[in-house]
Amino acid sequence: MELSEFYLRLRKINCLHEIAALLEWDQNVFMPAAGAASRAQQLGLMHTLVHQQLLAPDLVDFVDTFASRSSALSEDDAVNIRETKRQIDRMRKLPDNFIEEKSKAVSASYCAWAASRPKNDFAAVRPSLEKVIELVRWEADLCGYEAHPYDALLDIYEPQARLHEIKPLLLTIADRVRQLFPREDLPVDADASALSGKQFPESRQFDFCRTLLQAIGLPPQSFRLDPTAHPFVRHIGARDIRITSRCQTNNIFAAVFTTLHETGHAIYEFGLPPQHYGTPRGEPASLAIHESQSRLWENFIGRSKPFCSFLFTLLCRDFPAEFANLSADQIWSDVNQVQKSLIRVEADELTYSLHIVIRLLLEEQLVSGTLPVLDLPDAWNALYEHYLRIRPTNNYAGVMQDVHWFQGAVGYFPAYALGNMYAAQLWSALRRENTNIDGQIEQGDFSALIAWLTDNIFVHGKKFTAAELIRRATSKEPSAEDFLQYLEAKFAPQKE
Ligand SMILES: [Zn+2]
Repeated sequence: MELSEFYLRLRKINCLHEIAALLEWDQNVFMPAAGAASRAQQLGLMHTLVHQQLLAPDLVDFVDTFASRSSALSEDDAVNIRETKRQIDRMRKLPDNFIEEKSKAVSASYCAWAASRPKNDFAAVRPSLEKVIELVRWEADLCGYEAHPYDALLDIYEPQARLHEIKPLLLTIADRVRQLFPREDLPVDADASALSGKQFPESRQFDFCRTLLQAIGLPPQSFRLDPTAHPFVRHIGARDIRITSRCQTNNIFAAVFTTLHETGHAIYEFGLPPQHYGTPRGEPASLAIHESQSRLWENFIGRSKPFCSFLFTLLCRDFPAEFANLSADQIWSDVNQVQKSLIRVEADELTYSLHIVIRLLLEEQLVSGTLPVLDLPDAWNALYEHYLRIRPTNNYAGVMQDVHWFQGAVGYFPAYALGNMYAAQLWSALRRENTNIDGQIEQGDFSALIAWLTDNIFVHGKKFTAAELIRRATSKEPSAEDFLQYLEAKFAPQKE
């Protein structure tokens, strides 16, 4: 095989991924419920085709040969060989009977979770979750690891991340965040919201969010924004990004900040180097780096005073009656309330990482085999009491709230907390280099901000590991310090 044929194959595999992404997007946005069975077959076929393409003997031979001769390759070719080998190696380690067993177990466990969560019935889902955890532990053994089986799983979502490196970082964040908590429980008073009693129809909220995205700089010919239950972004083609969001009719900020989060993901996808499109060199570095971009827009930029001022101007223009007697400062305090909540996806910027630390500690024990699934709800509740000083009274708002484990995704959660940490480190480097950033944001001029992200993150695609990318962009080792300083500066006054 020639190098040109290798690239033809990579682009073909990318096409298959994009078709699958389109099917998934449609499933979550437009597909009628009765389409589910056929869609599962269609997606299953796409998965098989990708598998067959990647494990084609001539491609495997080519990649194996050149992986050991990477010095003979250009830097970009070497990245593509290295990353394709990574995917192939993982597939080679997992035998067909494992894949089949895991896919059956995950589908049974997901259905059991969906049916028993509304009934708050952990006992009903326990046997299928036990099966999933058993398979996940088998997966770790099949993939291999040096220090801890959890590393093998972490590596799926965050290449090169290791438990012994990330756990101390996340525990440091958790300890310092707990010190920033208000001493007394803050009663959450919905009537204190500046929006209390106001109503925002869904279609007007989505129109507003589309205007906001264009004002930020997203090309209108290259994206769609549609409502869905669990928001996400799918990249369907080189200049085709589908953003989804959700809204609450009594609170427009829910839609605005969910949309900003997803927009951060979209801006990253738009900024990837077009000349490497369809190859790993042109793909996002990792899940945590992706999440750093969404959190940067949602929190560091979106929940800042300059952005709230810019947002307020747009809101007054599109909703003059609703925002007539309000101010940018009121918006800022509204979107920066801290509360001890049980639900991760509703958590504020300060407490969010605590939800992740809890999941990391539980995953570590589940994977080590020291925590039986039977004891999981009690262990979950005890950790919520310890870290968030609030105890779930049912499993619906406790251990059954997230779908991840029931879908076999163990090792995924840390990427969210690392994303926060990386976002803070990037934000602080960016502010050091661009001292006019606040003024630019307040004026709605995001061009310098996006240019900095492009030069320091986007252009590199998958060239570097997440840690190396952060090191290069910020001239510092990845650490929790910038994130903690940011949180302390923003939330410490609320202590009293
Ligand atoms: Zn995200």
